[in-house]
Order: sequence, then structure tokens, then C-alpha cells
Amino acid sequence: MSFHEITTLKVGRWTLTGLSIGGTHTTIVVNELKICFDIGVLTNESTHCDKVLISHGHIDHCQSYFKHYRCRKLQKMFPAPVYLIPPVMEKPMRDSARAQFNMEKGMINIPMPKDFIQLVPLRAGDHYAFNRCSHSVCKIYSYPMTHRIPASGYIVVSEVPKLREEYLDNLGHEIKELKESGADIFYTKRVIEIAYTGDTTIEGVLRQPDFLNAEILIIECTILDDQLDRKETTKRGHIHIQDIVEHYNLFANKHIVLFHLSPRYAGSIAFELIDKAFEGLPSEFTGKVQVLWPKT
Ligand SMILES: [Zn+2]
Ligand SMILES: [Zn+2]
Repeated sequence: MSFHEITTLKVGRWTLTGLSIGGTHTTIVVNELKICFDIGVLTNESTHCDKVLISHGHIDHCQSYFKHYRCRKLQKMFPAPVYLIPPVMEKPMRDSARAQFNMEKGMINIPMPKDFIQLVPLRAGDHYAFNRCSHSVCKIYSYPMTHRIPASGYIVVSEVPKLREEYLDNLGHEIKELKESGADIFYTKRVIEIAYTGDTTIEGVLRQPDFLNAEILIIECTILDDQLDRKETTKRGHIHIQDIVEHYNLFANKHIVLFHLSPRYAGSIAFELIDKAFEGLPSEFTGKVQVLWPKT
């Protein structure tokens, strides 16, 4: 297995393309939304993303942000990208961007242009909104996770106006007239499309119902066997596959994607260990699990 092998998964109505190896790099793109979860390594698909959601400051999750920014700028890709980050990352990331800028200019202490890089610290409960099309909005929310350093998970929510049931039989011109009269004929359909945990212990996921109810849950699963026990895995701020096995019936998601597997499982052994761990679990659960890991 190459450490730069990219995997594409069709997950529900979305296509995920990326690669993730615990401690090495994680970059996962939702192609249709131009959203990139973490930017541990630059990929062709991530360059096309104008929204990068960074979970925390460990380098396997954020080290390529500046390269991403620069590549888009060099290729004149618009709009300018935004980087959603845990608030604690704002100052160090600005300092690091300033240092990169100075290095590029071959000078020190030159002031950065105001619009140089868009960092958006997202506090729990805050959201960042963008339009998917003329009538539908997506909102990104962050949640504090449980890791060795402050870390955020993210959910992507779609909000689409839908006609109220009592108007479904109305003809087009009647709807138009009702709309013009200012009648309240629409409601907003809210769907938690995708949840992304970043690095976390299982506790960080279980305490947040939005993760358990999202259509798609992208959940870290660093350890797959007893090379490291659950207690030690938790201590290191990660999820052991047995944490998922124990709580499998809480995951109401339609699709689950495991990522951030340890490099110790390089190759097809990862799939064998996952099958072994899930032995005996109902197919309604195992059937919805995919793994962001190259099939070799
Ligand atoms: Zn990591
Ligand atoms: Zn980490």
C-alpha cells in the first residue's frame, strides 16, 4: 500500500475522495459540496475545495493548509478558500501564515494584506453558511470533541424549503399566487447530511446526538485489534473498534465511514480485522459501514 493511495467511496448521495492514515495524514473531500475535512496532505480533489474544515492542530490534519491556499491562488481558483478552525488555532495559524508569507517574500516583518487568508474560528453552537443553489442553504456547525488537545468535529446540515403538505395538490399558478400573497406555504426541511469526528475518543461522539443521527457519519477508528487496548486507546485520545462494537446499536446513521486507521494495519489486513471485530453484529449495522482505506 502506498502512503499516498487515494480512495473514492460512494456514500449515499455523496462521493468521498481522500486518504487517511492515523498520525500521517488525513484529507477527505466531499466532492459535490467542495468541502474538505482536514488538510494533512494536498490532493487534486482538495485543491478544488473552497471550504476546508480543520479538526485540530496535529500536523497530520492541518500541515498542508498553506500549500492548499497557495495552489488555489496560483491556479486562480475562486472563490478564495475559507478555513474553519477550532478557536484555539486562530493565533498560531495566523502566525504561521505570516511566517510563510514572509518566507515567500524573502523578507521579514512585512505586513500581511488584510484579505490574505480567511480563517474562521468556529465556536460550539456557531455556524458557517453557504448556498448550495439558489434555494438551498448548507450550514456547518462545530462541536468540541475529546482528544489530547482541543479538537472540533463538524456537521453539515442542509436546509431546503418544502411545500407544506396541505398545498401539495395545488397547481403551479395557485402556488405562485399564494407565494405572492405572502401566505406561509413552505417549511424548512433540515437534514444532518454529514458528520465528521476528526480525532476523538468514543465519548466525544456518543455525547452528541447530531453525530449519531447524521445520514453519514465519518468516524475515526484508529485501533483495530488488541495491539493497543481500549483503555490505552482512549488515553491517547482515539477510538478503538471495540468502542464502536459495544455501542453499535446507538448509531442511527444510514452510512458509516471509518477513517484514521493506524499505519500498523497497512494493506488488506485492515479489512480482515474489521470483519473479525464486527463478527456477530447484525447485517443492518455491518452493511452500512465502509472504510476509507485502499483495497490492495
Ligand atoms: Zn490524527
Ligand atoms: Zn490528533
